[in-house]
Amino acid sequence: MQVHILASGSTGNVAYFKFGNTRLLVDAGISARRIETKLALIGVKAGDIDGVLITHEHVDHIKGLDVFIRRYHLPVFARAATWEAIPCRHKLPPECCITIEDQFQIGGVEAEAHNISHDAVDPVGFSFHYRRKKWVIATDMGIITENVLKALAGADLVVLESNHDRDMLKNGPYPRFLKQRIAGRYGHLSNHDAAAVLARISRKEQMQVFLAHLSQENNHPDLALKTVSDSLLKQGCQPGEDIKLHLTYPDTTMSFTG
Ligand SMILES: [Zn+2]
Ligand SMILES: [Zn+2]
Repeated sequence: MQVHILASGSTGNVAYFKFGNTRLLVDAGISARRIETKLALIGVKAGDIDGVLITHEHVDHIKGLDVFIRRYHLPVFARAATWEAIPCRHKLPPECCITIEDQFQIGGVEAEAHNISHDAVDPVGFSFHYRRKKWVIATDMGIITENVLKALAGADLVVLESNHDRDMLKNGPYPRFLKQRIAGRYGHLSNHDAAAVLARISRKEQMQVFLAHLSQENNHPDLALKTVSDSLLKQGCQPGEDIKLHLTYPDTTMSFTG
């Protein structure tokens, strides 16, 4: 099992997962050319992907979808309402557009979509079950809802949003309405929120956590890592032992093999 976070943040999100022989992308939020290049750097041919899963219709999650899918003719999995909201849907081959419910199968992987609180039409995160392991991706969330807690519980690996530092957002350059949107119920999780949810869920030993979707304006990788580590320690959880934290970047691939 492998995960490679090819791009993460408001400039674009793409994660590559490999479960046995099943190869998946979650989101396609950078140009098709950049997706190809980044896949090539980890030795993956874009045409070998078994499916592209879309969390929601925001441009940082679908920017390269149109060109990438027309070039490689891959199946794309998204909610019905999300399909309606994806502007390029009419340009994609209809047989590539697959509507998902809460549970679906791709190759050898059982996938589950869980609803998240975000300002998109029907946004989701995904859990992947493979050989008794559970890997979860959950970003773009204003608040942590019960079903997200359920999805994260007992996960072996989580890609979790740690979008902003509260003070940086508060004192930063964004206009008021945007600050309110980000900090609101349908916005993005702060570093503190990420730590709070990690401390709260039932965990397996050595849970791997990728802090993802970091804001370039309102966060910094070192700060996210420090805030989450300090907060976990205060809550009786040992970073590095109970939870292994990894960072993600807009343009540098971060990987883990389990
Ligand atoms: Zn979004
Ligand atoms: Zn996003």
